[in-house]
Amino acid sequence: MNSTMMDSPLTITALLRRGARVFAGSEVITCEGEASRHARFGDVAERTQRLAAALQALGVKQDDRVGTLSWNHQEHLEAYFAVPCMGAVLHTLNLRLPPHQLAQIINHAGDRVIIVDDSLVPLLAAVKPHLRTVEHVVVVGAGDASALAASPSFDWPDIDERSTAAMCYTTGTTGDPKGVAYSHRAVYLHCFAIWGAFRIDDTERILTIVPMFHVNAWGIPYAAWMVGADLLMPSRFLQPQVLCNFIQSERPTFTGGVPTILGGVLQYVLANGSDISSLKRAVCGGSAVPASLITAYRDKLGIECIQAWGMTETSPIGTIALPPKGTPADREMDYRSTTGRSVPGVELRIIDEDGSEVPADGESVGEIEVRGPWITASYYNAEAPEKFHDGWLRTGDVGHIDAKGFVQITDRSKDVIKSGGEWISSVELETLLLGHPAVADAAVIGVPDEKWQERPLAAVVLKEGATATPDELRSFLGSKVARWWLPERWAFVDELPKTSVGKQDKKLMRALYAEGKYPVVELAAAPR
Ligand code: ADP
Repeated sequence: MNSTMMDSPLTITALLRRGARVFAGSEVITCEGEASRHARFGDVAERTQRLAAALQALGVKQDDRVGTLSWNHQEHLEAYFAVPCMGAVLHTLNLRLPPHQLAQIINHAGDRVIIVDDSLVPLLAAVKPHLRTVEHVVVVGAGDASALAASPSFDWPDIDERSTAAMCYTTGTTGDPKGVAYSHRAVYLHCFAIWGAFRIDDTERILTIVPMFHVNAWGIPYAAWMVGADLLMPSRFLQPQVLCNFIQSERPTFTGGVPTILGGVLQYVLANGSDISSLKRAVCGGSAVPASLITAYRDKLGIECIQAWGMTETSPIGTIALPPKGTPADREMDYRSTTGRSVPGVELRIIDEDGSEVPADGESVGEIEVRGPWITASYYNAEAPEKFHDGWLRTGDVGHIDAKGFVQITDRSKDVIKSGGEWISSVELETLLLGHPAVADAAVIGVPDEKWQERPLAAVVLKEGATATPDELRSFLGSKVARWWLPERWAFVDELPKTSVGKQDKKLMRALYAEGKYPVVELAAAPR
């Protein structure tokens, strides 16, 4: 029997209409350094129509890709709505990529127009000679651009919810960057997942620290708009000092960021005493969140720091780590420090090397696979059969799951350390090391070893003025992990290489180690 329910399309246009109608008075606030710029959702929605009209006048049609090379600010949000709602595809470009990779991605996506911040024009200029498909560049700057639009109104077309709304490329640490194409339907449903998982509403003021070129800023801008939360955009002012000033003056209640940025804010506040007491909650993910960061946020700042997991391919929300009902306060960290449980809409399983599902015993390790309406089913114009398994996405993350559904990522499959036939979790060693007061940054990689095939090497950056010896750090780890996990090889370095999205570049680290670039201190093996 056919249902009689309305077949309302799940589109970004529906989200746009809702925010504009129901929350016309909510605000988008852009940091401009010393000052902030305020706009109401109603005005933003009107400017969105002008932008769509301007893009149409440039010849942008259905399915055309429109790139954005931009910081987080009001104008970027306007592109977030104008481009998909006119039926075109928003392609956010990572401004931290090297020019040759940026050119490769723009060419691969076939972007026809690029919207660029005036501050990023030099970057685009470096790339431009290599671009094959770009016909127009729209520069966003301080001037009044409203005259660009022939008309202040634009009739949003009806859009098939399965058509592509936006694209984002993976950072390509293992191969060429691959494009993920998000449908309107996926973005819409993902918004509901964010709403539920982050429990946000119009009483919040949400600071979007995650760049809008990184998995749509975790979907936060669309979700905030849908629920009428004020959006605070830091633009290019991401250094802890300016960010803290922005927080102090605009008083956000909620934010999301990667551990490095949230760690930087913590250090700054502890050293300089900024008042960021308006913040009540901070979602953190993108790489493993050290338990020490979560407890420092709670104890020193009074902020609930909540771990979540996801990837470009998963829109990105996949899991969130909140303690289950009945957890006594002193056991909460047992759950908060994990990768979390899958959010409604996402199915998750862990598959061992033989292709069977591992038991949910909190120990058996395998590759995490996920599926759901906002998980990618393929890559844009690229074959990657190895990334899929019977309709599930192979995440490349390795971990275990317990009977309550809590997942713990222990590694990425390309970074796992197998020593004497047993796994050692680099993620666990790193997050523990980050809890040592002298350690600013740490990465553990597998290096060849005659006896054990592979052993962990710990590369550590010490905090300014701090000292620690390899022996001290190993004893610090000593009581917390199995003895045979303890690294013999230690290297103290000034910095660790990072990818364009700020994650450990372990491929490069392994290459640097192989070239003898790391000053390695070797301790005697700990007795097993
Ligand atoms: P890339 O895959 O290019 O690094 P993504 O932003 O898509 O860029 O990164 C997704 C990956 O980040 C995940 O597959 C996982 O390895 C890591 N990650 C994200 N959140 C967490 C988390 N909470 N704990 C551990 N790893 C995480």
